Amino acid sequence: MTTLEHSIVMGGSMAGLLAAAALAPHSARVTIIDRDPLPVDGPDAFAPRRGVPQGGTVHRLLALGEARMEELLPGLREELLAAGAVPRAAREADPVPDEATPNEGAPAAADGPLGTDEHDAPGIDEPGTLWLTRPVLEGVVRRRVLALPGVEAVQGAVGGLLTSDDKRTVTGVQLRGGEVDELRGDLVVDAAGRSSRAATWVEGLGFERPRTLGTRVHVAYTSQRLRLREGALPEGTESLGQPATGNSPFTIDLEPCGADEHILSIAGTARHQPPTDLEGLLDMVALLPERETADALDSALEGAEPVGEPSVAKAAGAHRQLWEETTDGPAGLVHIGDSAAMFTPLYGQGMTMAAVGAVALRETLAEDGAEGLAARFPRLLGALLDRAWEITTSRDAQIPGAEMLVDGAVVEELPAAGSLVGAGQSTGETLR
Ligand SMILES: Cc1cc2nc3c(=O)[nH]c(=O)nc-3n(C[C@H](O)[C@H](O)[C@H](O)COP(=O)(O)OP(=O)(O)OC[C@H]3O[C@@H](n4cnc5c(N)ncnc54)[C@H](O)[C@@H]3O)c2cc1C
Repeated sequence: MTTLEHSIVMGGSMAGLLAAAALAPHSARVTIIDRDPLPVDGPDAFAPRRGVPQGGTVHRLLALGEARMEELLPGLREELLAAGAVPRAAREADPVPDEATPNEGAPAAADGPLGTDEHDAPGIDEPGTLWLTRPVLEGVVRRRVLALPGVEAVQGAVGGLLTSDDKRTVTGVQLRGGEVDELRGDLVVDAAGRSSRAATWVEGLGFERPRTLGTRVHVAYTSQRLRLREGALPEGTESLGQPATGNSPFTIDLEPCGADEHILSIAGTARHQPPTDLEGLLDMVALLPERETADALDSALEGAEPVGEPSVAKAAGAHRQLWEETTDGPAGLVHIGDSAAMFTPLYGQGMTMAAVGAVALRETLAEDGAEGLAARFPRLLGALLDRAWEITTSRDAQIPGAEMLVDGAVVEELPAAGSLVGAGQSTGETLR
């Protein structure tokens, strides 16, 4: 059922691509705008790019994210395998902190197994079934999405919103550095990630700016792709790692990433910066106080050959814009992915929650059409984000020196997820 004429997606990273896949059945045209070119052919299709500086860092996709992406793009898992992703043999269970609601936000079992009939619905914190790199995942998703009927990519930087004369409806975007100066459409999706300026633009139109919640744990990563020697890992072992402990703020992981390569990743919290060169990373591994892990890692890394340069990335912590709390805002604009909620990378939730949001977008368009979408979608998405947000923020709170923020100001404790949508606000009664 096509309900929209032209949807514009700001940002062509994971959230933007998945949102475009969600919109494709409901919109005659979908235009994805990104500052970067979005190649689908040749080696550049699977290469890191400027707009995703975290692309070289180890990226894990949770089972829920795989399931949601597969729903949007059936057959994706097979294509990822063909592009070099490797299946995880063992899926050691990450504990879900609150057993009461482990599957909230997850698809029902009947929604689709992850390639096997026996597989139950994944919990929100369940590890995925694939080892892969971020560029391979994004490249395959991009190729699939840009092959959908009516979907195209345009290179350019969105510099602002176009609106109706009364400023109550977003009618398109202004572009810089592209072939055209503006694009008009009946829906704009903000998937511009953590650098999104949508809140400032919305405020400039005279609407309320969303309140924000956040954490500051200052994570710094160095990741190095490696080719290990044959039989480097102990028999029956796919990956090795050492979580941060009371003695050390560094998490160390050595895991496959496809194409016969592994990634050695060291992440420090609370401004503890891991070394940024391979020699330094290896020294840190060798000096680990946990001797058993150190010996296993040391021996696995012996004779390893680096592939490319180390990749360095940082994240302050989690950040959430409470669009669901605002009572008024322009029609024709919704937010998805990191621009709505950015999760602390240590727990690997960002891409998964982008996929959860995209499926919710597709479903609400199918069930209730585009009318009132800008008012409806933030509440719908907010409720789906709450559980993952709680996991991120409660884990962050355990990190020494962690700060909790409301509207940028440090607070003792964050309000519980979902508690800030006022009791007086009934869903769907706003003008949007
Ligand atoms: C160090 C690090 C490690 C991470 N590890 C994991 C992990 O293991 N697992 C996981 O699931 N997630 C991880 N994440 C999070 C994950 O990368 C994001 O959640 C995911 O990329 C979805 O983000 P997004 O698409 O909303 O935004 P982004 O990926 O930030 O993309 C935003 C896009 O918008 C474009 N853009 C921005 N502004 C404009 C503009 N004005 N005009 C045009 N284009 C614009 C950018 O070029 C970019 O392509 C990690 C993040 C970091 C920082």
